[in-house]
Amino acid sequence: MTDCIFCRIAAGEIPAKVVEENDDLVAFHDLSPQAPVHVLIIPKQHLAGANDIGEGEAPLIGRIWARIPRIAEALGVRDTGYRVVTNCGAPAGQSVFHLHFHLLAGRAMGWPPG
Ligand code: AMP
Repeated sequence: MTDCIFCRIAAGEIPAKVVEENDDLVAFHDLSPQAPVHVLIIPKQHLAGANDIGEGEAPLIGRIWARIPRIAEALGVRDTGYRVVTNCGAPAGQSVFHLHFHLLAGRAMGWPPG
């Protein structure tokens, strides 16, 4: 989608601080970090959010999730704790309507989340 900022990052049209990229995903540092480590993991395929995940997307989502511990390892937080969050819908805090997983680490995390 040409008007989707994360599609444009995935296409290399908008610069980002990329941590990892493969055929399925791009992982890049969040522009407005909410923790010392705050990386976004997005599928290259446009899905508006978690509600767009169906059985057909299960292999893709599985491959993305299988990379997350490796991305955490590359960021040096694999064994010191991290949180993965997906906001689904504006009331839950979603502001970019392209599926993404926030990987947050480097500080104590409260629960329940706000
Ligand atoms: P959410 O509010 O859950 O949809 O998360 C969207 C995230 O994207 C926010 O944490 C923003 O700071 C981040 N963001 C928006 N535009 C960019 C960008 N161009 N590069 C990196 N992160 C971005």
